[in-house]
Amino acid sequence: MDGVPTPLRCFSERHPAEMFADDGVDSVTSVEQRAVLRCLFVHFLLHSTLLREQHYQYLKKGLRHLSDAYECLDASRPWLCFWILHSLELLEEPIPTAVASDVCQFLARCQSPTGGFAGGPGQHAHLAPTYAAVNALCIIGTEEAYNVINREKLLDFLWSVKQPDGSFVMHVGGEVDVRSAYCAASVASLTNILTPKLFEDTTNWILSCQNWEGGLSGVPGLEAHGGYTFCGTAALVILGKEHMLDLKALLRWVVSRQMRFEGGFQGRCNKLVDGCYSFWQAGLLPLLHRALFKEGESELSRQRWMFEQQALQEYILLCCQNPAGGLLDKPGKSRDFYHTCYCLSGLSIAQHFGNMDLHHEMILGKEENRLVRLQGLTTYHGVAPTHPVYNICPEKVSQALQHFHRLPVPYENKPPGASADERLSDPAAASGSADHQS
Ligand SMILES: [Zn+2]
Repeated sequence: MDGVPTPLRCFSERHPAEMFADDGVDSVTSVEQRAVLRCLFVHFLLHSTLLREQHYQYLKKGLRHLSDAYECLDASRPWLCFWILHSLELLEEPIPTAVASDVCQFLARCQSPTGGFAGGPGQHAHLAPTYAAVNALCIIGTEEAYNVINREKLLDFLWSVKQPDGSFVMHVGGEVDVRSAYCAASVASLTNILTPKLFEDTTNWILSCQNWEGGLSGVPGLEAHGGYTFCGTAALVILGKEHMLDLKALLRWVVSRQMRFEGGFQGRCNKLVDGCYSFWQAGLLPLLHRALFKEGESELSRQRWMFEQQALQEYILLCCQNPAGGLLDKPGKSRDFYHTCYCLSGLSIAQHFGNMDLHHEMILGKEENRLVRLQGLTTYHGVAPTHPVYNICPEKVSQALQHFHRLPVPYENKPPGASADERLSDPAAASGSADHQS
């Protein structure tokens, strides 16, 4: 920040030229772009600031009470915990001790007797809520929270969903896709149960999801997609194998997903803008920056990621905020906790470059728009509020790694017939690469 207010990109003379040319015939894209345009102007005049207090009230209420609209997410309840807790930590709002303890007890009831976490008490274990539950518990970061996780059983569960080709199914008898590899690698690395044997052939399977577009698809041979691309790339970062991707092709694909008019990201080629891709797509840029740096790329900026950070902040702050709190997909859509979490996570990426050694901020507009409030230079360590691999606060990642690395990797519960080699495999070799960010 140099103290000079940044001129808004969306009010430049060139901006209207970025609109989709619909030749006078309405299309979904042109109708939506006009809604975005209205939002850019109206919201700029009304409130171009981060509505911190409104978001906080919305999130706080969600921890204790959900409307009927959330009934369809009955099988995603640990996700609701994660989305709300992570949004609160991004806003630097402390979680009351009693609430944290209640969340721990609730997630304990979601833990399956066969290991892993289910979408709700009494349901079957599934990798997605397992990821969400472990992340939520690491955000809470207390002994009580860490002790909820039964690591031996979690390892059993991961083995039960591992496939011979290196992929993972989301749950026993369920579908394979690259989300599962990320969820498995994320929880295994955070809780120190990651062994090379558990992820044997996983790297090759993930690499086979990168297609001719440059991004990754859910399974080999399908269309590249932002969520799957993030999952595959972040999983490879955890496994220390991201250099095996075609990094330049991936870079070309992801930067082309930022919409020239809207400023936000689309999830796939020719799709509409959506606030949640502010994290799934923009979150790839820190991972790519670091991967290309490790490959010796000399032209990398030391001040900014390789996307329009200001344009993304414009989209999030002007088009994705509900005036009553909460964030959303796009103008006209309802707010929800999922989009609140991923819009704020994307805002964090867009505002902060680098890590503790090399940190540079780019805050759009007023100082109050900064997600992390300065509390005096002595307490500010120049750390971005979210870790681009796990999407929880970097300090919480370090704290969890420190805690679980004091505990031995459980060897006993390997699949039937596990060999002595497997029991002796060195987990540290495979898990050491994730405790830092670009
Ligand atoms: Zn979305």
